[in-house]
Amino acid sequence: MLISIISLFPNMFKEIIKYGLINKSIKKKLLNINFFNPRDFTKNKHKKVDSLIYGGGGGVILKAKPLIRAIYQAKLQMKHHVKIIFLSPQGKQINLSCIRKLLSYKNMIFICGRYKGIDERVINNFVDEEISIGDYILSGGELPAMVLIDVLVRNIPGVLNTISSCTTDSFFNNGLLGFPNYTRPKILKHLKKNNVPPVLVSGNHKKIKDWRLKQSLGFTWLKRPDLFKKKILTKKEKFLFEKFKNSYLKNK
Ligand code: SAM
Repeated sequence: MLISIISLFPNMFKEIIKYGLINKSIKKKLLNINFFNPRDFTKNKHKKVDSLIYGGGGGVILKAKPLIRAIYQAKLQMKHHVKIIFLSPQGKQINLSCIRKLLSYKNMIFICGRYKGIDERVINNFVDEEISIGDYILSGGELPAMVLIDVLVRNIPGVLNTISSCTTDSFFNNGLLGFPNYTRPKILKHLKKNNVPPVLVSGNHKKIKDWRLKQSLGFTWLKRPDLFKKKILTKKEKFLFEKFKNSYLKNK
């Protein structure tokens, strides 16, 4: 996957490409990221990329021409068909189906807005999709682009070591939240709730699997009732969920 980022602040990305799965996927040549700074595509002495908005009201936006030149330059370096994504609070909120769709694209250009946004004509003429990371306003599209890159690499085949490390995460786990995990030591002295559930150290894999499914069902019911409502439970899931619910209500 090749992602070209159009941003006034490409250095913001320097750190994230050094670490974790993003770094690993770059090393494995599963991901390539390059940068285009609209400032390098200006034709004025001061490399000015923003201008006051027509109609008044204060604030500036990114001018169209430097962005369009950056888009053309980015496209030149891409062999396959390119999808142009504008990170925008007005876009479709990122979710599983959106991630799956983006994963099917080989080449993408991410446009990061700044100030009060970008000239609408760039969106009207070039952008294929607008994507938001939530109903709140950030100062720029760089952090949303990083979020998107991170979520994409986790799902590029070959990036995660074992398939289970992705499919047992929340949401990917059959529409449920993930189950709770514990590690050494078995007992943390001085904590009230200090023990690891005995089933996890029993060595009985069937029981562990059922316990995990029960916890996933219960956690989704407690923490994300909206997701739980959408889930159609199998007979076994219904049974495990009832067990979770009864014990939860008893100990409440
Ligand atoms: N005036 C714009 C509006 O009302 O839609 C908001 C501009 S915002 C201050 C500047 C830039 O940050 C946007 O152009 C966009 O690229 C990015 N941005 C801000 N919030 C975002 C979000 N929730 N999701 C994705 N991008 C966002």
